Amino acid sequence: MNALKYLAGYPLHLQARVRELIGQGRLGATLAEKYGQPHTVRNDGQLYHYVHALKHQHLRKSAPLGKVVYDAKLQVMKHALGTHTTVSRVQGSRLKASREIRIASVFRDAPAEFLKMIVVHELAHLKEAEHNKSFYQLCTHIEPDYHQLEFDVRLYLTHLETEQRQCLPPPQF
Ligand SMILES: [Zn+2]
Repeated sequence: MNALKYLAGYPLHLQARVRELIGQGRLGATLAEKYGQPHTVRNDGQLYHYVHALKHQHLRKSAPLGKVVYDAKLQVMKHALGTHTTVSRVQGSRLKASREIRIASVFRDAPAEFLKMIVVHELAHLKEAEHNKSFYQLCTHIEPDYHQLEFDVRLYLTHLETEQRQCLPPPQF
């Protein structure tokens, strides 16, 4: 049995339910039913505007954003699916901290809600570095459905990996 690496932190009964859906070949269809809407954030310029708009709405006072890009090389698991780094630059005599957000490029083709979840996660890190209680409070303040979306993003990534492993389509009944 394959370990569900994206779901390791979740209760076993949920993991069992996911294995059941995978076994029945229904995980992809279940997600597609719930999240049918693609998004139009296709390139780095559009991503920058998308992230800025959300930040302007919810986190106006936090540190200004630097670069915002899709990153094809980003290992999805490395830092909860995206990364946020603080790049310090010396400008004259002042040190200016600039925040950079990289989003794994798998989210370019993901449903709209999943891109939002990962962007909310990275924006929340502008205020909270750790994955602590106030971090998740901030995430759910920006996106009330955050926890469900994070779980479903993990299902989606599990689904993509399962597809890649299968050379043949499942039998049709
Ligand atoms: Zn994080």
